[in-house]
Amino acid sequence: MFDTLTDRLGGIFDTLTGRGALSEKDVDAALREIRVALLEADVALPVVKSVTKQIRERAIGEDVIRAVAPGQQVVKIVHDALVDLLGGDGAPEGLYLEGEPPIAILMAGLQGSGKTTTAAKLAKRITEQHKKKVLLASLDTRRPAAMEQLQQLAIQIDVAFLPIVPGQKAVDIAKRAMSAGRLQGFDVVILDTAGRTSIDEEMMGEAKAIADIAHPHETLLVADALTGQDAVNTAAKFHERLPLTGLVLTRMDGDGRGGAALSMRHVTGLPIKFLGVSEKPDGLDAFDARRVAGRILG
Ligand code: GDP
Repeated sequence: MFDTLTDRLGGIFDTLTGRGALSEKDVDAALREIRVALLEADVALPVVKSVTKQIRERAIGEDVIRAVAPGQQVVKIVHDALVDLLGGDGAPEGLYLEGEPPIAILMAGLQGSGKTTTAAKLAKRITEQHKKKVLLASLDTRRPAAMEQLQQLAIQIDVAFLPIVPGQKAVDIAKRAMSAGRLQGFDVVILDTAGRTSIDEEMMGEAKAIADIAHPHETLLVADALTGQDAVNTAAKFHERLPLTGLVLTRMDGDGRGGAALSMRHVTGLPIKFLGVSEKPDGLDAFDARRVAGRILG
């Protein structure tokens, strides 16, 4: 186990006594430890650089009571800066579901990121918390197993599922889902797009064509928090091609420190809306910047 950042910073400030403002020298010594802690938490290097610069600006001149654990006070400064960088500690940005029904939510992401599981989790959440009638549809025409997986999940959580028509193209399924949504009085249609092992032109073209049909209110990128830097690169590439509205980070119940969250937010500027915290259908938490900041700091 690594020492916590508080312990490390405690060591640096142990020799200081009295009360005073943090000098550049104090802050720079602390920043070396902060930089290591962020890198160990899997925050990407360019993001670490930018974040530590902001922390430096905030910390210099800050008043600390040196007799009383100044290390902890500096950790608080860092913690607050991370919370701001993760989107602040207000209520998390929820889903935008207002407007003429049916409202489409498009799920995008690489294969294995947890996209299908998250589609089902969202369907359950919207049904229960927003009291809306939800239709789930799988557009993963290349992997019949993925379609069946979503169907099974829909049965498990008791949410409607658009019947599978073998051989139909993804854009045609999207059209069918939206028209079923309209005709059958659904409020929300969740479209689970095909996941691939890597981003390719065909995948992006297809996702774009689906978006043109469904005019989604939300286009959510699902990414695996444990893949760290890869998840960040994926998010950046998707966001170049598809107008994403938010991110969902899965496997936050794993033993990663969650630095990918900070990197993704920083690189894409998109809000992280939810965190996947288990394999179960209710394992989806609203994003909480404070909790994630605490975890990054260890
Ligand atoms: P997809 O290929 O992106 O659709 O990925 P799946 O939804 O099939 O998920 C892949 C695996 O990850 C499955 O075994 C899921 O149960 C699991 N999974 C998804 N989200 C989470 C999560 O938040 N935590 C954990 N522990 N497992 C998850």
